Amino acid sequence: MHIGYNFIILCFIFLLVACNKDDDAITQPINPSINDDEAKDCSNAQRYDEVLKKCVNICTENEFFDITTEGCRKTMPNSIEEKICQGDLALDKVTSKCACFGRSKEDPINKNCVCEAGAHYSKIDADCVCYNQNKFYNPLYSRCTLFCKEGEELFMLSNGEFQLCVPKCKNGYFYNLSESMCVQKCEGNSYRKSGEAACSPGKQLTLTEGFSSILPSLKIEKDLVICLVVDPELKDNAKKIAIERSKEITRESINKWLEPLRSFGNQIFKKEFTFIESNGYGCDPSPNMVTIFFPWPQEQMNDACGAKGAPGCANCGSKTIHLSANLNGTEREVPVFMHELGHLFGFDDQYIQGIHKEPCRDGYGLYTTVMCYEGIHLKPADVEGIQNLYCRFFQNEDPVACAALQQRFSFAAISSS
Ligand SMILES: [Zn+2]
Repeated sequence: MHIGYNFIILCFIFLLVACNKDDDAITQPINPSINDDEAKDCSNAQRYDEVLKKCVNICTENEFFDITTEGCRKTMPNSIEEKICQGDLALDKVTSKCACFGRSKEDPINKNCVCEAGAHYSKIDADCVCYNQNKFYNPLYSRCTLFCKEGEELFMLSNGEFQLCVPKCKNGYFYNLSESMCVQKCEGNSYRKSGEAACSPGKQLTLTEGFSSILPSLKIEKDLVICLVVDPELKDNAKKIAIERSKEITRESINKWLEPLRSFGNQIFKKEFTFIESNGYGCDPSPNMVTIFFPWPQEQMNDACGAKGAPGCANCGSKTIHLSANLNGTEREVPVFMHELGHLFGFDDQYIQGIHKEPCRDGYGLYTTVMCYEGIHLKPADVEGIQNLYCRFFQNEDPVACAALQQRFSFAAISSS
């Protein structure tokens, strides 16, 4: 009985479809509420409008029916295409996508337009704009920089944070910020006194009165021994490590001082050294011996050096060097050793004790000698100094090298450079 009922409905639908299919003449939209009599009154190109209660023109696909003018009007393309973009993003009319403009790049998470350092995104300008009005986008540095006048140039820290327009300096000069002036780049053994723009020629290293030097005993055929004394408190492994370190910095520092002599003159100097280790406070005396006390307790440094808090000291007579345990493992180990070793070669201190405008004696600069200010490498006056020293000992053996040296380091040669 149930099946029979469904069958009747199916037949009814089929009948309806069949009826519609037969009626090809219907061109107007079917509106079930339209009274058949009235619908028939509209022509083929018209339809019946329920609000106006009359026949109106049928609009095409790109038109809409405007009830106020009772006619068809074209649809505005903008009204359909209008998109709302998030954050800084705006509609790109070419691609019809939300985008960032100018130099900015899209941050996909925040939907912001990101600019280079020192700039922010301006939606009005559709580009990045520098925060500071005196700055402009500088493609050279890919960031906002100050605009410098003619005759000036930009000074900027490597991170771009600090910017300043400074006067352009003539060739061979650079602008010194702390002194606010153009100063010369000093070359060779020349240095600049504070307040002076040009470099002054540096003097040669001076030798300690009574003059004794370890240089001759460093010749390869000599039997120099280096006695290593470490802090007596150190035991076993700590002592072993300390001795190894002491050997290392001694080897390194002596070789740095001898380096300028390797390609100079005929004499050959040691590269490897004979070390002996002390069991207590020193080694059995021998005539050709240098003694290195390192690391040495700071409390005992005062006795050894006669100066409170000294990081190191040297005695030319006894050929000893004391280096404080405080230096152990710090970056000053080798620099302080280099200075003290300079004393064993026979060179004087060139710094002025106390606080002075110039830290070095007249004729010397921070960058000309380790005898004024310690350094991990020799400085120009030191190179000159060790070669001059060589000529004091071996002039007769190496007259050519020593004559050439005198020419190279003459006062005239420095001032003309
Ligand atoms: Zn000194």
